[in-house]
Amino acid sequence: MTSLATRLSGPADTTIFERMSGLAREFGAINLGQGFPELPEPPELIAAAQAALAEHSNQYPPMRGLPRLRGAVADYYARTQGLELTADNVVITSGGTEALAASLFALVAPGDEVVLVQPLYDAYLPLVQWAGGVAKVISLTPPEWTLPIDALAAAIGPKTRGIVLNTPNNPVGTMLTRVELEAVGALAEAHDLWVLCDEVWEAMVFDGTPHISPLAIPSLAARAIKVGSAGKIFSMTGWKVGWAVAAPELAAKIAGRHQFLTFTTPPALQWAAAEGLALPDAWFDAQRALYGGLKARLVLGLEGAGFAVLPGSATWFITIDLAASGLSATDAVLAERLVREAGVASIPVSAFYAQAPETGYLRLCFTKNETVLDEAVARLAKFRAQRD
Ligand code: GLN
Repeated sequence: MTSLATRLSGPADTTIFERMSGLAREFGAINLGQGFPELPEPPELIAAAQAALAEHSNQYPPMRGLPRLRGAVADYYARTQGLELTADNVVITSGGTEALAASLFALVAPGDEVVLVQPLYDAYLPLVQWAGGVAKVISLTPPEWTLPIDALAAAIGPKTRGIVLNTPNNPVGTMLTRVELEAVGALAEAHDLWVLCDEVWEAMVFDGTPHISPLAIPSLAARAIKVGSAGKIFSMTGWKVGWAVAAPELAAKIAGRHQFLTFTTPPALQWAAAEGLALPDAWFDAQRALYGGLKARLVLGLEGAGFAVLPGSATWFITIDLAASGLSATDAVLAERLVREAGVASIPVSAFYAQAPETGYLRLCFTKNETVLDEAVARLAKFRAQRD
């Protein structure tokens, strides 16, 4: 009989985000690590949630989500991405991470191989493994972080059942193109694969690059699952309202897993998210302009201080190329030093690798007010100058 301690093996470490936030608190550092805004929160959404708490039932909402929110999600994607959806395509979950979990638990059977693409968000690998799957990991090619279709094709074998994608990409902010997604679609059709796509950053694109979901690619429409997040769209990461969107039969399977993970999601936040998604385009444009301005400010400040910032279209993050910035340490070492010695927390991009990490890139979150960003730049500039 194995001991309890042995049976409790598996990933118990805290995430890199928790760890860096902890270090930021310990050293009183500016926290540009974990991705969350420290900015005024949208008053329309707060008011909608307050009203919903008082006016609507606070008992279990329908398991698959309030019909009003499921319809609002479908309408929002019709308006913003030209997708043809109805409420039958949508399952509301407690955050994007739960949508990923419910989807993988619905799709992966023990022994199935699943292709993951690194840098990868930290939840993908343990979720595939907890579902009994075997991950086959390929890597985007820096510094453009393009998807190597040949490597993807080579990773697909007789046991492969699916691919997990992420566009826009956390951590590096790049986006998959239609051409890349069509190539994925051809492989998925040829090998009868599902494609799970984490699209939680879809509303945070700052350079006009169109966000393309696998659901918009004809060869993928029936085999793709799109994961979205109200927390990201409305800049309130603690709300944990997300969704999975897929063909109705797939959506029903995902709902079957959701019902034994969280079962439902707080109804007041669902009502508020539904109201938020129906806000006029001008609201979303203003939100994007605000965040885009903060991104530009951090990038300009860092470049002025001699840091090389990689181009990226989207997310709340920018990426520093350390070698091109004249810094020779690895990202993991530098992130530790920066939080202790410079007073700025960041995330090493190597933490997003399951194997053979790229070690020369640092992720910084720019969703902070201008004073905080300017102070962070001053601290990083001083640190870099001392090393010249
Ligand atoms: N999505 C956030 C990020 O990338 C982290 C969320 C978390 O801490 N688990 O920074």
